[in-house]
Amino acid sequence: MAKLTVPEFKEQYKNMILRLYAEDVKDSDAHQQYTALALWLRDYYAPFLKATRQHYENDRVKEAYYFAIEFLPGRMLETNMLNLGVTDVVTTAMMQMGLDMDKVVDAEPDPGLGNGGLGRLGSEFLDSAAALHMPLNGNGIRYQYGLFRQSFVNGYQVEMPDDWLRNGNAWEVRKENRACLVRFGGNTWLAEDAFGRLVPHYENTTDVLAVPYDTGVVGYQNQTVNTFRLWSAELPTDPAVTYTLQQKEEVNEITEILYPDDSNYEGRLLRLKQEYFLVSAGVQSIVRHYRKHHRSLNHMDATVAIHINDTHPAMAIPEMMRILMDEEFMSWDQAWAITTKVMSYTNHTLLSESLETWPQDMVAQTVPRIYQIIQEIDRRFRELQTPVYGADRVNRCAPLGDGTVRMAYLAVIGSHSVNGVAKLHTELLEKDVLKDLYRIYPARFNNKTNGITMRRWLQIANPALTHLLNEKLNGDWCHRPLDIMGVQSFAKDPTFLKELQEVKHKNKVALAKKIRARENISVDPEHAIFDVQIKRLHAYKRQLLHALFIIDEYQQIKAGQPLSVPRVHIFSAKAAPSYYYAKEIIKLINEIANTVNHDPAVGDQLKVVFVPNYGVSEAEDMIPAADVSEQISLAGKEASGTSNMKLMANGAITLATMDGANIEIADAVGEDNIVTFGMTVDEVGAYTNYSSQAIFDSDKHLQKVVNALIDGTIPNITREGRDIYNSLLQYNDEYFVLADYESYVKAQDKISTLYQDPEKWYSMACINIAKSGQFSSDLTIARYGDDIWHLTRDQVGVN
Ligand SMILES: *Cc1c(COP(=O)(O)O)cnc(C)c1O
Repeated sequence: MAKLTVPEFKEQYKNMILRLYAEDVKDSDAHQQYTALALWLRDYYAPFLKATRQHYENDRVKEAYYFAIEFLPGRMLETNMLNLGVTDVVTTAMMQMGLDMDKVVDAEPDPGLGNGGLGRLGSEFLDSAAALHMPLNGNGIRYQYGLFRQSFVNGYQVEMPDDWLRNGNAWEVRKENRACLVRFGGNTWLAEDAFGRLVPHYENTTDVLAVPYDTGVVGYQNQTVNTFRLWSAELPTDPAVTYTLQQKEEVNEITEILYPDDSNYEGRLLRLKQEYFLVSAGVQSIVRHYRKHHRSLNHMDATVAIHINDTHPAMAIPEMMRILMDEEFMSWDQAWAITTKVMSYTNHTLLSESLETWPQDMVAQTVPRIYQIIQEIDRRFRELQTPVYGADRVNRCAPLGDGTVRMAYLAVIGSHSVNGVAKLHTELLEKDVLKDLYRIYPARFNNKTNGITMRRWLQIANPALTHLLNEKLNGDWCHRPLDIMGVQSFAKDPTFLKELQEVKHKNKVALAKKIRARENISVDPEHAIFDVQIKRLHAYKRQLLHALFIIDEYQQIKAGQPLSVPRVHIFSAKAAPSYYYAKEIIKLINEIANTVNHDPAVGDQLKVVFVPNYGVSEAEDMIPAADVSEQISLAGKEASGTSNMKLMANGAITLATMDGANIEIADAVGEDNIVTFGMTVDEVGAYTNYSSQAIFDSDKHLQKVVNALIDGTIPNITREGRDIYNSLLQYNDEYFVLADYESYVKAQDKISTLYQDPEKWYSMACINIAKSGQFSSDLTIARYGDDIWHLTRDQVGVN
């Protein structure tokens, strides 16, 4: 394909604006400019999308389907330009036409189809798979409203609907010709047909039409474009059937909203319907597609892999059984052999309250045929395993128990692979959360530490650092992530370290400018440490520990002792609307910010910023400017974490507990290049008689900090301050905040000391960047492809 030139692009772009809006470029607004550019890019990659599909089909290439109830793709304009290799031509042309590229980029809505790390991981994987020419397809739900938009009123979180589709979605293509019917409710029974086969009969079901919308996932400069498919619920089109208004409402609401909670699953019927809707539509379309190209279903695992990302899509297992038995007339044993070979599962949590379960009667009423199949999976599992492992163990880990369907157990039993998302997490799954099933199926368990795509988090988010790396590294680190290691040789080069410092400074100035414009807070990019904690608001992530330290610093300043280094504490986090305690923490931090930022005695020494509406775009603004990466969850609670990896790749120093992937980061950079603190998992586990009150009583310094919650030091938190105080003392501090406090303060002091020696600090930053390559999701997805799905791919370029 001939290389695109600036004049060619301008011509085509002007035509696009004319066709779409009957206007000249100069009369268009930013949204029109964005839409026209997105549609131009879609046209540009359409031939690659077609060729990729044809290659997979004609060459009978094995394809994997990644099922997830959440994705968090981020904006796609810059990614697609980068991956298609047209960034320079397009930006030059846009400039020549007098257009402001920043405004065009900002006009794209950031699709909030996920809550946090889980959804983001799925999107990173799709990006990396396309970069490796690996046949991986995404399967999710096209929520009409994404995760709520967050703002603050009087320091309280306020939630507003995220109407991300209001102006249409330029990337997607509706494929009504690929729609499927999904059945809910009613009654089911089995009866013999004319051939003596048992077939299910249904009555009084509610049928829903699942319509797919496909978006291309553009590979990094390799002409691969994979498919990301999102399903939307609609009324079936049968003209003989009429629907009441209420029936219409019931159907439409299935894909109306994303559940704004990534850890506690509200036992809501609608959520169960969303889960079955996704898997039924997805699995039906996979089998239908397979049928078009293959005669026998017996070897489906040779060309199809289905991945269950967390338990929400676990009904893919009984749904596949249903299709193979009821529609393809296979025996149970035949169907089960295929299903377990096709399915694989990733667990994402260690919080016991987050292991998903559903009341059996709810499942029986909502998806009766699926419930029958789960009962049979349960019966056979018990029959087969009880003689070997005993009734106690088998009762503890069978799919049905305590009147519920236990989704994680169903997922393990119906899959050939079960993985955790960091070494420690996988170990804890085997030892604790899933220990009974590990005993029965040890060979299924494996670890796949999470990863991040360097394209978004370095090449797009941090052009200054990318430029510096390109200058220094001969190897093509953009194709070979481990090549970033090469900058390690500059870790003692004062000239390079100065350049690295200048890059960070430039990014801090840019963020300070945005904070000034958006939050009306002045922060000092010259002298202050930018100390960043950005992630969902959850008690186990311990934003409270960080907040208590800020109170501590404030009290120190008020007592006449200036901080050794000025600090800017930057938070960003959404709390689930029903998570009362998390919202109280938000209020607390906002009131600390209010107090500290307006106290003339504090000045520029200490600032606190809570950036509202955390999402991928906000993360892209903050991460390149971070000096310190706060990863301070209670050990044993964070499965992996990925913001830790993004921040490290951008040269932030990690301040961390030994939890999740922090442990692997510590291993990679060595103890001199990370600041760790707090109890280990084993210490937490061995702590049998924890008394937060005893710790409080024995530490005067800590008392003063904690009392600030209730003594008026921080105004406007009468209720919240008291509740948080009580959580720490009366309710014995579930996440050991007070137990780790002293150790955290020491670690923070160490950060301040290190920061005052810029050569030392940027040498540490350099090592962190150098070692970040191993956390590239290109490497992670290659391991999924090799070990779990058995897919073909290009080399990751790692020797
Ligand atoms: C990376 C990312 C996360 C995950 O953050 P953790 O600190 O690993 O929990 C959540 N939300 C967004 C928008 C992200 O980009």
